[in-house]
Amino acid sequence: MKLLEEKILKYGNVPTEDVLKVDYFLNHQVDTVLMQEIGKEFAEHFKYKNITKVATIESSGIAPALMTAIALGVELIILKKQSDKVLSEDILQVKTKSFTKNTYYDLTLSKKYISTDDNVLIIDDFLANGAAASSACKLIEMAGGTVAGIGIVIEKSFQPGRELLDNLGFDVYSLARISKLSPEKIEFLEELHIC
Ligand code: 5GP
Repeated sequence: MKLLEEKILKYGNVPTEDVLKVDYFLNHQVDTVLMQEIGKEFAEHFKYKNITKVATIESSGIAPALMTAIALGVELIILKKQSDKVLSEDILQVKTKSFTKNTYYDLTLSKKYISTDDNVLIIDDFLANGAAASSACKLIEMAGGTVAGIGIVIEKSFQPGRELLDNLGFDVYSLARISKLSPEKIEFLEELHIC
């Protein structure tokens, strides 16, 4: 997505070779016009998948996921990061490693928000090692729903997450795919245009 790539090049900064900070438009201040475009783009891409709900991971996935849910006219589920196990039959949890903090949390979903008829689109801000997205998929499936697709705003394609999700058989669509990241230069994967 051209507009997103331009924002990354203009406002992104790279504190270490594997982390991109986009606080200017996504993670601290939110560019609402960009979010609207992101929502429309995901909705357009997944429009034939009969999406019944969008799910995301708190908190940075919420802005793009909400715009996508609005564009699709469906509800949004926010999967929560809990620090403790919850002992309840209605609550599902999957232990997940945080990329940014290098600690573990329990990604949590209340069963009541997913039924066996649900086709869920998962949206997140970043894809790195794939832990967050694969845990989100696992939770939806444990609750009885189907994962219809995964929408990622920024994929760091040089990290293993994309291959992991592809190998698990998920339909992944990333709006910006970064092939190289360094404090001096950010490069994107070339898009294939099939005529
Ligand atoms: P993964 O679970 O794929 O290893 O990492 C994805 C999660 O970690 C995302 O939900 C995102 O919040 C965070 N994350 C991963 N890489 C980055 C990054 O380069 N910048 C920021 N701001 N967050 C990241």
